[in-house]
Amino acid sequence: MGVGRAGQRAEDLINELGITAPNEIDIEAIAFDRGVHVSYEVLHGCEATLVGYGDKAIATINPSSSRGRERFSIGHEIGHWQMHRGKSFKCRSDDIVLNYSSNNDYEKEADEFAAHLLMPTRIFQSAIRASGQPGLNDLKKIADDFEVSLQAISIRLAQLDSLPVIVACYSKRGREWYSRANHIPWRWTPKTTLDRDSFAYDVLHNGQTHTRPRKQPADAWFEQDDADQYELLEQAIPSANGQVLVMLYLSDSEMCEEAYTQSSRSRY
Ligand SMILES: [Zn+2]
Repeated sequence: MGVGRAGQRAEDLINELGITAPNEIDIEAIAFDRGVHVSYEVLHGCEATLVGYGDKAIATINPSSSRGRERFSIGHEIGHWQMHRGKSFKCRSDDIVLNYSSNNDYEKEADEFAAHLLMPTRIFQSAIRASGQPGLNDLKKIADDFEVSLQAISIRLAQLDSLPVIVACYSKRGREWYSRANHIPWRWTPKTTLDRDSFAYDVLHNGQTHTRPRKQPADAWFEQDDADQYELLEQAIPSANGQVLVMLYLSDSEMCEEAYTQSSRSRY
């Protein structure tokens, strides 16, 4: 997938600052460099605010026990400042899920900016390559290196589009969100409620977890009639608020290729 406009702005900034390693992404120093003063203050009804005056701005961040969340909020506000100058913002920027699914372009752009600022493609790509086909445990370690949340890094991995990966989050209500590598055909959309045969179901209902992705028939995850012809790799772990985070690798490459035949056929 190509990098969007907001992502490119963040990547350009990273290059301009000569940053080449995760531990060099000092988010407060980057904010300072852009004229944004960061302060921490308990906020009600939002996670971060941005107020600009002239060529300076103040980003106020709701303190969190997760440094990853704070960093994402700061990156998000820098994004607003770089791209939407002249406006003030009250953001729920910790909750990237709400923003990804929101219709608010400003919020989406600020999130895309933050994701690329905290996980620049070149640096992130080499960390991912070093772990081959990372499981969620590997991703946790990479998330620690980049000081981002597991959720943020999972979504970034899917959007990087270098591996046939789908990440998703389920609660007892059903699917909360998912993110899919762009080259995976649209028809492979994870079910809206967890199948009893999925490992994620066991995690959500019985607290069972596995340390590695394991083989699973694809019809545990997809409604398509032909899903039972394929196998995939599934890993699921407990996430915040009683939810479960799922990672699926479409390891059978035919699942990604076959769609071309299908879509060209459907034109006739
Ligand atoms: Zn925002």
